[in-house]
Amino acid sequence: MPESDPNVVLLFSPFRLIFVVGWLYLCIYTVVRVEYSPLISNRYRGLASVVSLLIGPFLMTLLVVTDISKKLQDGEITPDEIFSTILGYLLHWEKQEHVKKKKFIELMDSSGKSFSEVYGSQSKDTEATRKTLDLTERIIYDAVVSRASDILIDPNTARGYTIRFRVDGFLRVMNKVEDEKCVAVINSIKAISSMDIAEKRRPQDGSFMAKTKDANIYFRVATAGVMGGEKITIRILNQTAGMLRLEEIGMTSKNLKIISEAIKQPSGMILLCGPTGSGKTTSLYAMLNQIDFYTRNVVTVEDPVEYVLAGTSQIEVNVKANITFANALRSILRQDPDVIVAGEIRDAETAAMAMQASQTGHLVLATLHSSSNLATLVRLQDLGIKPLLLSSALSVVISQRLVRKLCEHCKHSANLTESQIAEFKSRGVGLDHVMTAKGCDKCGGTGYYGRSAIMDVMVLDEEIKAILADGRLSAGDLKQKGDTRGRTALKREGMKKVLMGITTIEEVKRVTTRLE
Ligand SMILES: [Zn+2]
Repeated sequence: MPESDPNVVLLFSPFRLIFVVGWLYLCIYTVVRVEYSPLISNRYRGLASVVSLLIGPFLMTLLVVTDISKKLQDGEITPDEIFSTILGYLLHWEKQEHVKKKKFIELMDSSGKSFSEVYGSQSKDTEATRKTLDLTERIIYDAVVSRASDILIDPNTARGYTIRFRVDGFLRVMNKVEDEKCVAVINSIKAISSMDIAEKRRPQDGSFMAKTKDANIYFRVATAGVMGGEKITIRILNQTAGMLRLEEIGMTSKNLKIISEAIKQPSGMILLCGPTGSGKTTSLYAMLNQIDFYTRNVVTVEDPVEYVLAGTSQIEVNVKANITFANALRSILRQDPDVIVAGEIRDAETAAMAMQASQTGHLVLATLHSSSNLATLVRLQDLGIKPLLLSSALSVVISQRLVRKLCEHCKHSANLTESQIAEFKSRGVGLDHVMTAKGCDKCGGTGYYGRSAIMDVMVLDEEIKAILADGRLSAGDLKQKGDTRGRTALKREGMKKVLMGITTIEEVKRVTTRLE
């Protein structure tokens, strides 16, 4: 009886049947593809059909794999996407999630018009436009997820364009993108930033924004014609800056106490100093976060407004509209607020207005570009502030730098050199927690992830005030002296973080030896 024959049952096992039918389907599919493929000349079409009938499915797999790896290299897709796509096929429910994830970021101009609406209207080739939009969105998205502060796209002297991201203060070269694609990306960014696309030489400024699942992100854009083409710099305004507290930026408890006390005062001036990229703005916001906006009226002048603080009035500097730091401060003083933030003191007029505000019963928070606390005092005198006014208006001066923090995922105990061990021992400090990192996927192979502030805090006590008022601080060599003193103080703070396993000796040396 046939139904009792075990072989017959096996032959029609459902899995085997599906496999055989699937295999036959793939064979026929590849034969059909070969039959109509423009890549194969008519001479070999017959042979190709036979070959593909026999090993077609293997060839197909090979082609798919090569195609995917090329796309990976070009940065058109990421390993994550491949993974989630495969997962999506394997697990049906995952598919919906993937489709939602696909629209990771939405770019729009400063008035809220969508990217495709702005750029699409400037180009006729819809397919090319769509590809450019996707690529631009991909670059911006990659920058945001890598915690970049800037995106730099510039023409190389050799050939082609380089795309670089600045992460934790360091530039990382990103995937190579073809020349024409880079030009299209630059044009699309110029369009969304409300710039003139046709103007390629004259420097232009603009801005745009992006919506992600979690937040709105703001971008400041600058272009300039350079040798070999046009370069574009996109600054990503720090969205977490406004959310951090003083403890979170790396401030020690001793300094925290001093600053918190100074912020509570109804008047006085707290001045944050440091070179560009030393985290002054983040610290400024962290201080503002200590202030109760309901009981104290806070007005800020910033260039640009990096983070919108609900409950405060923020004014953005706009030179074209004649809103300068000095002009804005003047109008603010007429409104008589409790706390005034002068984003940056750059000129004599702003310095004078800020000092005056501090003298007339306001708490003033400001930043100044300088290398050390004493250099700051010299700089303010250079800006025309009389020593007596300086001594009565200033309450605290803080110089700061940022050290990169060791990556939590790959840090491990450090192997110190003989001389380092001897140095630590001579100071009587324990080295059990000194760490180093080898780099991993999480930190892009650098060994560092995020940054922490080191600060030299100077309270203007009676002694310093007396020296200032005497005019004894106006000596020409003061800046040099101040820098040396400031460097030592910063180094000491940095070394504390080394001993706690937060950063490395090299990192502290890097940020404290180069003061400007
Ligand atoms: Zn790591």
